[in-house]
Amino acid sequence: MLRSVPIQYLFQTPVYAASLESNSSVPLNRRLLRECLQLRHDDRGGRAWSERNYPGGYTSYNSRSRLHAVSPTFAKLEHSIDRHVQRFAKSLDLDLRGKRLAMTDCWVNIMRHRVVHGLHLHPLSTISGTYYVQVPRGSAGLKFEDPRLERFMAAPARRARARAKNRVWVTLPARAGRVVLFESWLRHEVPPNLARGERVSVSFNYAWF
Ligand code: FE
Repeated sequence: MLRSVPIQYLFQTPVYAASLESNSSVPLNRRLLRECLQLRHDDRGGRAWSERNYPGGYTSYNSRSRLHAVSPTFAKLEHSIDRHVQRFAKSLDLDLRGKRLAMTDCWVNIMRHRVVHGLHLHPLSTISGTYYVQVPRGSAGLKFEDPRLERFMAAPARRARARAKNRVWVTLPARAGRVVLFESWLRHEVPPNLARGERVSVSFNYAWF
C-alpha cells in the first residue's frame, strides 16, 4: 500500500469518454452503419485516396468530411455529440470569447483486420474525437501519447505496471456507442486492428473560430 505522497498533478491532459446516449445506441448505430457502408460503396474518390493513404481501410476524411451537413443520421449524431463537447469545453475552462464550439468536420473510418492509423493530431481544430459505431471483439483501441514525451530525454522508463497517470502511452478501449473527446493537439493513433470484422467509427473536429 502506497502512503499518501504530497504531490500535486499540474498540467494534466484531459481525455473525455462517455456513452453517447443514456438509452441504447443500437438503433442509431444500425442506421449509421448502413450509411457508412453505403458511403464506402459510393465514394470512389475516397476509396482511391484510402488505398494510397490508409492501406486496407476506408476513410472519407479526404472526400466526404462534412457528413453532418448532408445526412440527417449524421446530423442527429452531431446533435448528440454537441452536448458532450460543450460539457468537456466547460470543464477545461476554455475562454471562447462568447463563441460556441461547432462541428466543422465529420468523417467515416472503416478498419479491417490489421489496418493501422498512424500517430497524428488534428490541426486547425480545438476539440476532436471519435464515436464508435461497430466494434468487433478484439478491435484496436485509441492510443494517446504523453504530450511531454519529447522533453523526457534522460528520464527513466516507467514500470511495466505503472498507473495510467504515470504512463507515456495510454490506450482507451473502443466500445460501440461510446464517444471519446480530446484537445485536437493531443497526438494519438489506432494500433493494428486485431479484430476479424470491420471496426467502424466516425471522427470529427470542433472549432470556435
Ligand atoms: Fe484522429
